[in-house]
Amino acid sequence: AFLDRIQALDGTVGAYLTVTAELALRQAREEDERRRRGEPVGPLSGIPVAVKDNLCIQGVPTTAASRLLAGYRPPYTATAVQRLRRAGAVILGKTNMDEFAMGSSTENSAFRTTRNPWDLGRVPGGSSGGSAAAVAAGEAAAALGSDTGGSIRQPAAFCGVVGLKPTYGRVSRYGLIAFASSLDQIGPLTRDVTDAALVLEAIAGPDPADATSAPVPVPSWREALTGEVKGLRIGLPREFFGDAVEAAVAGAVRAAVERLVADGATAEETSLPSAEHALPAYYLIATAEASSNLARYDGVRYGNRADADTVEGMYLETRKQFGAEVKRRILLGTFALREGYADAYYRKALQVRRLIKDDFDRLFATFDVLITPTSPVVAFPLGARTEDPLAMYAADICTLPVNLAGLPAVSVPCGFVDGLPVGLQVIGRPFAEDTVLRVAYAIE
Ligand code: GLN
Repeated sequence: AFLDRIQALDGTVGAYLTVTAELALRQAREEDERRRRGEPVGPLSGIPVAVKDNLCIQGVPTTAASRLLAGYRPPYTATAVQRLRRAGAVILGKTNMDEFAMGSSTENSAFRTTRNPWDLGRVPGGSSGGSAAAVAAGEAAAALGSDTGGSIRQPAAFCGVVGLKPTYGRVSRYGLIAFASSLDQIGPLTRDVTDAALVLEAIAGPDPADATSAPVPVPSWREALTGEVKGLRIGLPREFFGDAVEAAVAGAVRAAVERLVADGATAEETSLPSAEHALPAYYLIATAEASSNLARYDGVRYGNRADADTVEGMYLETRKQFGAEVKRRILLGTFALREGYADAYYRKALQVRRLIKDDFDRLFATFDVLITPTSPVVAFPLGARTEDPLAMYAADICTLPVNLAGLPAVSVPCGFVDGLPVGLQVIGRPFAEDTVLRVAYAIE
């Protein structure tokens, strides 16, 4: 049924870069067989899931929406995808994204345009826009995305689905094509919070193949979904409700908080003063790490090699295949790391990152969760921000601080503005996915 739906809709929505129909049918039949034989099946047995195209699957094209990787078929599978399979999930295909996950609208894909299923003239958000659109359009029951500065939560908000960025270290990054390694996390995009808990349970947990995966046990997050919010202390950091945030978006979020208060939670305005520095700090740290991570695409070790007479020419022609945004990031990051500049830029940004982390720690001494809008605006029209990188970067002011601090956060739909979905962000303490999911469940 999902493959039929993809067939019918994806020419218009453009959520997928690759549909693995044969593989999906084979996996589905295997799950059926197992059931018929009375063998135990996993919690996601037969559930069709889409995977962002920066997650490696053995033998399946994996491009990160970049020409440099067109035609690449990895010899191994990302841990998160392996675990989905082990839970019985069926892989439908690979979803569109901004090239190397750099962007907020999926318009930086080298291959195709993804449209927001709620309004085909608008962006689905990014960089996991294909995953969000696939779930919103019913072209997948759930999807995996990656979130470096908001790339799961912001497209989830734009497409009216649930998107969860786990605590840094909660999900193994093995097999995720690296953008900014100290910020990247894999997480689910789903139709509701229960599904997010289910998928997270399947993919989370320590992994010997990723030294940054945390040795923290995986609880049953479904059990956290009680609907109970009595006594919950909610902080509303005013920096996330300021002038940059559309009044109607802030209003929808505040209305949802009022409903929690009616159910016995308390809510109080508070302040995260360092938040205003998150955007510049993020764009130094993320570009610095990206410039280093993307150095491997030289046409020798990785990436489609371009023809040239000299070695230098070969590097040059190969790396010309990067899109404009990726080139901009490599330039920025290389500059920030240059000898003589690193102290002024990169190290300064790391200091700001520490201040942001300290600010959050201070707030979490008082509050159980912080609630903010996921995005300052609802989905914007296709093309509206492509000529203005700073306007595009500003789409992430509410989500970036969370990655810099490594915290878990979920975006859950909380209403509509002009017929377009609004996302509410719940931020929690490190490894408090249970609390974050419980609050999101009470909101949806
Ligand atoms: N939009 C942000 C960026 O372009 C975040 C992207 C992401 O989370 N991968 O860097």
